[in-house]
Amino acid sequence: MARRKKIYEGKAKILYEGPEPGTIVQYFKDDATAFNAEKRDVVEGKGVLNNRLCEYFMSGLNNIGVPTHFIKRINMREQLVRAVEIIPLEVVVRNVAAGSISKRLGIEEGTALPRPIVEFYYKDDALGDPLVTEEHIIAFGWAAQQDMDDMVALALRVNDFMSGLMMGVGIKLVDFKIEIGRVWEGDYMRLVVADEISPDSCRLWDIETGQKLDKDVFRRDLGSLADAYTEVARRLGVLPQNAPPLGKPTLIN
Ligand code: UDP
Repeated sequence: MARRKKIYEGKAKILYEGPEPGTIVQYFKDDATAFNAEKRDVVEGKGVLNNRLCEYFMSGLNNIGVPTHFIKRINMREQLVRAVEIIPLEVVVRNVAAGSISKRLGIEEGTALPRPIVEFYYKDDALGDPLVTEEHIIAFGWAAQQDMDDMVALALRVNDFMSGLMMGVGIKLVDFKIEIGRVWEGDYMRLVVADEISPDSCRLWDIETGQKLDKDVFRRDLGSLADAYTEVARRLGVLPQNAPPLGKPTLIN
């Protein structure tokens, strides 16, 4: 059987040409990276969990009328998505201070923000994805003024949806990152949520205990990443309640 043509390989996913023009297959790898890939490991089962969780979030968004690139999950590790023109920005929404905003502005981690804050980072690994303002984005032509308004609106709708979903299973959505792409329908262009939404790109804290259930477990060596993601999936009902962990068995101490 002819192997699909690889379009791009990133840190956590591989993109292949899809079966129809205008489609792409997203393959979720088990690789975990942090600090611009300075820290890396293979977390058995992470790709499977992220594929399932991403399907759950993206199809939920599609169902409530927030457009995404997601079409359908194909198998354990792959999903079919629409080909989009990615805007070279990481759009971050924060509800609670953590990570870079805490360091940059000296706000203690865990401090609730007065309202959701939307930030933009220019996607450039060599530069370490620097924070940029609307001025930079428009002046350098990465997006137009109308796109800016649409991106903020889209990001806030994703925030409301994801916050509600997580709140329902006892998890606080601290912050998350999305990427946004352009889809062309004739002369008409619209923006859709693209790339992935998974615990790799969110901060998720247990409401009761504050336990971290996201990639900070890996970044900060806080335990088993596969166990944390399995817990998120179980609570959301994405995995059966009694499913065995997908990752390596952890030692009970
Ligand atoms: N994030 C991401 N990819 C990146 C940078 C950040 O998915 O390249 C996510 C991160 O997981 C967190 C949010 O965006 O949920 C905000 O990250 P922050 O700016 O605090 O940076 P970090 O502390 O992760 O370096």
